Amino acid sequence: MGEAKQVYTLSDLRQWEEATSDLDPPARLAVFGNPVQHSRSPQMHNPALKAAETNCQYVRLHIQPDELSEALQLLKAKKFIGTNVTIPHKGGVFDGVDDMSEVARRIGAVNTVAVDGDQLIGHNTDAPGLKRAIREAFSMDLADLRIMIIGAGGGAGRAASVQCAMDQCERLVLVNRTVGKAEALAAELSDLMSDPEKFEGPTDRILAIPHEVAAMEEELDQIDLIINATSMGMKRTDPEVLPQRLISPHHLVYDMIYAPPRTRLIANAEAQGARAANGLGMLLWQGALAFEYWFNKEAPVEAMRRGLLESLEGE
Ligand code: NAP
Repeated sequence: MGEAKQVYTLSDLRQWEEATSDLDPPARLAVFGNPVQHSRSPQMHNPALKAAETNCQYVRLHIQPDELSEALQLLKAKKFIGTNVTIPHKGGVFDGVDDMSEVARRIGAVNTVAVDGDQLIGHNTDAPGLKRAIREAFSMDLADLRIMIIGAGGGAGRAASVQCAMDQCERLVLVNRTVGKAEALAAELSDLMSDPEKFEGPTDRILAIPHEVAAMEEELDQIDLIINATSMGMKRTDPEVLPQRLISPHHLVYDMIYAPPRTRLIANAEAQGARAANGLGMLLWQGALAFEYWFNKEAPVEAMRRGLLESLEGE
């Protein structure tokens, strides 16, 4: 039996049985993206699919934005269980699904589609994936934390902000270089953060500030968890997300970046005596949650973790 191709296309999907006739088990899950060849999802999902004896495999599909609607419709005809969608399709899937989860609707992005009979159901597992990653890394729930999200105006930052607000975290400070984006998001989420049962202190439950040292410094003694959702730190030469001296031992620091595994932010946090974790857990748990939506059972998380770590070796 042959190995799956690195990347399939819409033409392949149109005649899926022929294009994948050499595959055993059959390919019934995929990630749609453009570009997609960098996606680590097959390396994470295939060990889990094998461990759970699902008799199917996961491949990459290169789908252009103008092909998305047809590709989604073909999922049912080609007997797919579901798909992940990545850049640039997370917003574009909205029109192609029949229904979606509340968190996906609030975020405005779908990263997982499950085929349910003749319906396509959209989910966002990035945000609840972050929630599980925080629980795993720090044994804490978002609901019990005062949280600062740096880069709240980006896609991942928005997802994190929505999840924190839906969980009614103790306090939410949204930080963004383009502060207008953080302000608009704070206004949008304020209804979720107005629970009178929660502690009413002298500080705002939700606020937006610019990504400036003085503004962050003013808030950080009222913060437990700092999340970096910017792309700063992916390159060794990137400027600091926040100065090391602003991190205190009581802070929990979560950097969504996982490559490199130890960013400057993580090193700085640990040097200050704070606990820190990288974004691998978020990536892992968003995948585990997708598995749960597709198969309606617990994901073999350790098989997924091993696959992910192997795919990252040497980076
Ligand atoms: P994005 O939509 O492009 O957002 C980038 C964010 O970073 C924006 O808030 C942007 O601010 C800010 N930013 C970029 N360069 C900056 C700079 N020089 N100074 C200050 N702020 C800067 O990207 P994304 O998709 O949200 O991804 C963000 C990061 O999260 C990436 O590192 C990505 O790898 C990571 N991520 C990880 C996971 C995971 O599973 N672990 C999942 C998703 C994303 P402006 O709004 O002002 O431009």
